[in-house]
Parts: sequence; C-alpha cells; structure tokens
Amino acid sequence: MKTAMRLGKKSLLAAVLGLLGLAIQPAAAEERAKDLFGAEKLPAATAAQSFGFYSKGCFAGGVAIPMDGPTWQVMRPSRNRRWGHPAMIALIEKLSRDAAADGWPGLLIGDISQPRGGPMMTGHASHQIGLDADIWLTPMPDRAMTRAQRESMSATLMVDEKTHLVKDALWTPQHTALLKRAASYPEVERILVNPGIKKKLCDTVKGDRSWLRKIRPFWGHDYHFHMRIGCQPGSPDCKAQEATPDDDGCGKPLAWWFTEEPWRPNKNPDAPKARDVMTMANLPKECRAVLDAPGPVSAEAPTFHGGAVPVAAAAPEPEAPSQPATPASDSGDLPSAANAFAATPRMGAPVPRPRPPAN
Ligand SMILES: [Zn+2]
Repeated sequence: MKTAMRLGKKSLLAAVLGLLGLAIQPAAAEERAKDLFGAEKLPAATAAQSFGFYSKGCFAGGVAIPMDGPTWQVMRPSRNRRWGHPAMIALIEKLSRDAAADGWPGLLIGDISQPRGGPMMTGHASHQIGLDADIWLTPMPDRAMTRAQRESMSATLMVDEKTHLVKDALWTPQHTALLKRAASYPEVERILVNPGIKKKLCDTVKGDRSWLRKIRPFWGHDYHFHMRIGCQPGSPDCKAQEATPDDDGCGKPLAWWFTEEPWRPNKNPDAPKARDVMTMANLPKECRAVLDAPGPVSAEAPTFHGGAVPVAAAAPEPEAPSQPATPASDSGDLPSAANAFAATPRMGAPVPRPRPPAN
C-alpha cells in the first residue's frame, strides 16, 4: 500500500512537470562529453596543457597543423581534427621534414585531435589529449590535392584481411624507414600498427632493432600508423601510459595476434562504446573549464607555422554556434573489447605459427 502511494506520488510529480512543460533534464554533469567536445570549432586559448588520459581527457592551448606544408598535406579536412598539443604539431612537422630527407615523399596527415580534444562523435577511443596522431602509410602525391580529393581519396590497405599479413607487393624499405624515423624521437612512446605490419618489421629489420619496442600491434592501423607522444612538461594532470616492455615485442605477444582469438566477431556489436556514454563527470574536472575557456580570434591565429609556437589571443566574442561534427566514414571502429591500453594477453599464447602459404 505504502509502495503504491509512493509510486502514485512519483507519477503525479511527473504529470505536474509535464503540464508545466518541463522535461526531466539530466544534470549538466550527465551531458555526453562527445557532443560538447565534438561541437567545438576552435581551441581553448590558454596555455597548452593536457588533462587526463589518452582515452579520457581533453586539452587546452591546441594549435593546428596548416592544411599544407612543403612536406605534408592534411587529409579529411572536414573533420577538423588537425589540432594537437603544440609539441605534437611541431613533431609532426619535424617528422615530415626528416622523412622527406629519408626518401618518403611527404606525409598525409590523418586525425590528430579535435580543437579541445575530448571524445569524438565517431572513430577513435583515444586522440583526446592532443598527443596522438594518425599518419597514412600512403606516400603524398606530388601535387596539392583539392579539398574534395582529400575527403575522398582512398588510402592503401597494406595488410591482407584474411591472413593479417602485409601485402608484400606494397611494402617498401621507405615504409620501414618512415616508422623507424617516427620511433626515433624520444617524445614518441608508442606507435600503433596492424599486427601484420609489426610482423613484417620483426621479420625484416636488420641491425638496430631497439626501436621495434615502440611499435605496438593493434587492430586496424592497416592504412595508417598512430604516433603517440608522452605527457608534456606543463601538464601535471596528464596521466602517463605504462612504459612498453624492453624487448622488441616480436615473440609471444605478437604470436597471439596470429591466432583466431583476436579476430572473433564481436559478440555484442551494438554495445555502446566508451565514447558514446562518457559524460562530463567521467572526464577530469578541468575539462569543464577547457570547454568554457575563450577561443582564439580565428583558426589562423593558433595555426603552427614553425619556429615559435603561436599563443592565441582570446577572442572577445563567444564561440560560433555549435554544429554536429562531420561523421567520419572510415573511422576504423574497433571491437568493443579492443583496448589500446591493455597489455597484449600473454595467457595461452602459442609459439609463433609458420607463415601461411601465400595465395
Ligand atoms: Zn589513431
């Protein structure tokens, strides 16, 4: 009886609210973080700082890599994900120069971060704190592509989907040199590649193999590699990732990727991904201030042009009205079990199997 009365009171309250035209709003802290961060068009014009973890955080003081440079072009510009911590943007520019000197024609730059980081409407679990960048494994064409071409050009898939091995006809010593160069920078902690690419390096790199430690196998990453740098000075609230093991990673942990287990179909494909349910309450509390911080006067103000990193002046006007982020078509969604931060399972990993016959 008592229970019935309570229920009665509750529905009465709902009815009254309904009459008053008031929906029962979730608290501000329950707002989906990806909606808020995905709507930001410009960075927070404050000192550069990353908050939280690669897959759960945000950043301030972002700068953009220009759409074009002498040795790079930005792909999929409509996504507006060419923003990063100034140290990341400077490193990409340096990699493009060094790689060109090594014989790579130039970088095609994929997603870095949203202007203020945070979870994205589509794609990546990480890339949230301005310290992750995707670089295509397709060499840059020797002409400036139009915006339309950058949206539509297909990347070259380097790995056979069935065997999970690199397509030998496509792999060149320049691909190896590009990954070696990226791994050579002390700031770079990890480079994620498809297991087939890791295996190709394990099988072919001669001489100095110490850099293979940083090359980590992961789902996807068959047309691009993912370069991750460590937490930067001035970011005390940036959470570092566990160090990679000291060995080259070519043994048992790699063998696991060539078993059936990692490729089983996702039993629960409709389960929401972390980024879909993440609220502001799940992010570091500073991310609210990052969202609220004034933006620069324009996207040009915080665009990197080499040398001293620009510090954007705060704009006097509020942000432009928000729009939903452009959906990314080839976002390479991973099985929900995939977790870039978990160690590769070691339990039950068999000895490396022989190469399957080519066909
Ligand atoms: Zn990535």
